[in-house]
Parts: sequence; structure tokens; C-alpha cells
Amino acid sequence: MPNIKDVYPIAKNILKKHYLCDCCLGRLFSKKLNLSSNRILGKKLKQNNSHSKKCYICKNMFDNLSPYLKLMLDSCSAYGFSSFVVGAKIKPSIIDRDDIIRSKFQLRGIDSVKTDLTRELSKLFARKTKKKFDYLDPDITFTLDFKEGTCQVRSKQIFLQGRYCKNYRGFSQKQKSCENCSGKGCRVCDYHGLTEFDSVEGQLSKFLFDKFGGTIARFTWIGGEDKSSLVLGSGRPFFVKIQNPLKRKVRLPKTFKANSIVVKNCKIISTIPKKPLEFKSLIEIKISTEKPIQSFALQKLKQKLKNPIVIYENSGRRSEKKIFNSKYKKTSKNKFTLTIDVEGGFPVKRFVIGDEVVPGVSQTIGDNCKCDEFDFLKIEMITNN
Ligand SMILES: [Zn+2]
Ligand SMILES: [Zn+2]
Repeated sequence: MPNIKDVYPIAKNILKKHYLCDCCLGRLFSKKLNLSSNRILGKKLKQNNSHSKKCYICKNMFDNLSPYLKLMLDSCSAYGFSSFVVGAKIKPSIIDRDDIIRSKFQLRGIDSVKTDLTRELSKLFARKTKKKFDYLDPDITFTLDFKEGTCQVRSKQIFLQGRYCKNYRGFSQKQKSCENCSGKGCRVCDYHGLTEFDSVEGQLSKFLFDKFGGTIARFTWIGGEDKSSLVLGSGRPFFVKIQNPLKRKVRLPKTFKANSIVVKNCKIISTIPKKPLEFKSLIEIKISTEKPIQSFALQKLKQKLKNPIVIYENSGRRSEKKIFNSKYKKTSKNKFTLTIDVEGGFPVKRFVIGDEVVPGVSQTIGDNCKCDEFDFLKIEMITNN
């Protein structure tokens, strides 16, 4: 291991040509000597020969970091977090001068001036706020721009899962994206990607933005329903990712109303499942016929539904869905209710009119059937392990 005495001559040589501050001088040798404080090493290497001259590399940036610390403190004041990391944009001229010194004196394996700067600021910030420096998985990331004198904060996304119940008809599951930015977030939509909030997605987003802050909420739905459908029982599962949240720890009640949606068991999770999840739905379908309904036709339908339902897509793809259970109830001369417990992603309306779905309701009972409405009574996840 080299000794401090070994580097004195080089340090002296450098200082003769280019005056450096304690931090910049110390940084050139601290790794080689396995020392942690650049500042103290720099001071030692100068052997008390301090000048009032400006540092050739950093122009004495390290002498007064408090304006930058204040910038960091101000820019994160609205965020709740426990760990952070600091990134920086510095003037290219500083980096150039740092490179000149390195190559001129053939110094290798030393930290860059930027690394040292962000490390110094991290130390100051951690000391001041008692927050943890976390390089790998920080809650928030500062980007200090030394050229502009600005500081940007981004927080790590959070994930939630929950279930929603829809007790009123007439609004869709998904919200149309902001027309200006197609959902990416812009000034027009206040960076939310949405301009209207009259759907399940919209109402939930609004609630989440109020609670957590954040810009965009991206949903993963476990199945979907019609605008006129209700979602009852314990509700439909969903996952959501909130980008740039202000708060990361919010206690939510077990059941709460998010505007006209009822949300159940909503909680923060570590990540959203990558693979599509299998589920089944108990669906109540209200069907009208043209001709009076014959009881034997409904019996025949129930029998037929014991076979897998084959669905043909325009693309030529063919898929099968299994109905686990079905029951029917005639409610008037030409109306009946069919309740099916079926694999998730089942095309209800096409099944009723018999549009490329075999067996369909219309063909089976020999009539032109219409789907008046359909509601979800229960949605269950299927765990295959
Ligand atoms: Zn310097
Ligand atoms: Zn927009």
C-alpha cells in the first residue's frame, strides 16, 4: 500500500502548475492511499501552504455547497421519503479541466469531480435530514443542475392492489386519454394523462392523486365490464402504478368510497405481477328473446353449456372458455336471466347473439336473443400452483 510520503512529490508538482482546492487535490490520491476524506488528505498534502487562489478544476465549488443543499431541501419539501440519491449535471469545462490534470500527471482510477460533488452533497443532506443514502433503490432522486442552479426531484413509483365495486350503471371502466398527449402527461392534463374523470379509472385516479400525489396512475385490470354493468360482491381486482408520488405511506381503510366507486382491500405492494393472472367470473346476464321462451329450450341451453365455449376471432385465432356452472330463470314471456360461472375474459354479448361463439345462446334456443345487460356478481382469482 503506498504511503502518503510517496505522493507528496506528485502533489507538489501539480500544485506548482495548477492550484487545486483541498477536495480536488485529495481526490487525486485518496483511492490510492485508501483514505476516505478527500478534504483532509488535500489539506495534509499542501503542508499548510494554503493560498487564496481559485481551484483550477472546480473554481472553489466545494467551498460553499450550502446553496445547493438548500436547493435540495426546498425541492423535496413536499415528498415523504426515507432514502435518496443525488445526481448532478456540471459544467463541461470543469470535467475538461479534471481530465487535463488526470492525463497530464497520469493519474488513474480516481473518482470524477462529479462523483465527489454528489458524495459531498449526499453527506451534507443525510446529516441535515437523517435520511438514508441509497444508491441502488432510493425513494427519491435529486438531479442538481449546477449550470442552471436548479434541482429536480423524482420519486420512485409505488404499486397498489385492490378491488373495486361499481354500484351504479352508466360509466365505463377505462378513461379516454388526454387528447393532447395520448396519456403521456402534458401541461394540458396537469401531467396526469387524463383530462376527464368520469370512469372507474378516472374516479380511482382522482382519489389516488389526492391521497398520494403523483402524476400518472397506470392500471392493470383483472378483466373488464360494460359501461352499463355493475360489479358487485367483493369487486374486481386491479393493480395500479403511481408515478412520482409525493407520499409513500398512506393508511387506507379496509373499505372506502372513491367518489362513486367502492374500493376494498387496497394496499401498497412491492411490484405488479408480470404474467397475466387467471380468474373466473360469476356473471348474471339478462336476455330477451323475440318469440315466447320454451322451457325445453332453456334446459337444452344448460346442457350445451357443459361443453367448452369456442370463440373465433377475426384474426383467425380460436380460443376456448369453460363454463363451470350455469343456471337460468325465466322472468317473463320473452325474458330470462342466465347466470354463468365462467373463465375470465368471456365475450358476453357475442355469446348471447351467437356471433362466432359456439355454442351461442341464440343458435341453441333457436331465436334472436338480445343481451339487455350483464352484471358481475363475483370475480375470483384462479391460483394454479
Ligand atoms: Zn477544486
Ligand atoms: Zn396531456
